[in-house]
Amino acid sequence: MSKTILIVEDENILREIMKDYLLEEGYRVIEAADGKQAVSLFQEHEVDLILLDIMLPELDGWSVCRRIRRTSNVPIILLTARSDEDDTLLGFELGADDYVTKPYSPSILLARVKRLLESRHIREHDSDTLSSGGISIHFPSRTVSIDGTSSGLTHTEFEILAYLLKNKGIIISREQLITKIWGYDFAGDDRTVNSHIRNLRSKLGKHAKQIVTVVRSGYKFEDEL
Ligand code: CA
Repeated sequence: MSKTILIVEDENILREIMKDYLLEEGYRVIEAADGKQAVSLFQEHEVDLILLDIMLPELDGWSVCRRIRRTSNVPIILLTARSDEDDTLLGFELGADDYVTKPYSPSILLARVKRLLESRHIREHDSDTLSSGGISIHFPSRTVSIDGTSSGLTHTEFEILAYLLKNKGIIISREQLITKIWGYDFAGDDRTVNSHIRNLRSKLGKHAKQIVTVVRSGYKFEDEL
């Protein structure tokens, strides 16, 4: 089954180029030229990943991201026009998984798309589930339940939680997380990680404190006392 990618980009030439690359790689492609169209196409189709420009007519990329995150954890890669750190951080706060700065090379973009679409942890695990106290990860479905209730984690939040839980009791540095989750070529910094950890903790509710911040070192996951 080929995966479906929604490209949201108002510049026709850029959209066409991206579309050609994705089609060549065997993906199905749906296109939106403005933010409103993006939201409605997303509601009408099964979409596996979204490439989302920020500066868009009708509804900007931030608003599109916010609306989609109300109902879905679909992987979202932001396409930002400049390497503005504040833009990137806002994107992560809104639940985006990754970003690419324009002008980007198609091969880098494809690499990011592939990384988000593959579910590495399924292969890395002997058992289907991993739990600690009220938190339980089910790898085949990539779902997390908290006290028996399914919790909507984004792709990135899932990866971070799975990695910390797999390495329970071990301090994991922010650099390790960046390398593990986004890869070596990722330009994000510590604040990127902080932002995702903050989102993740808020979804863990009363179990948030199981992700312990170790000053100047990183994070570690601990069983509940
Ligand atoms: Ca634009």
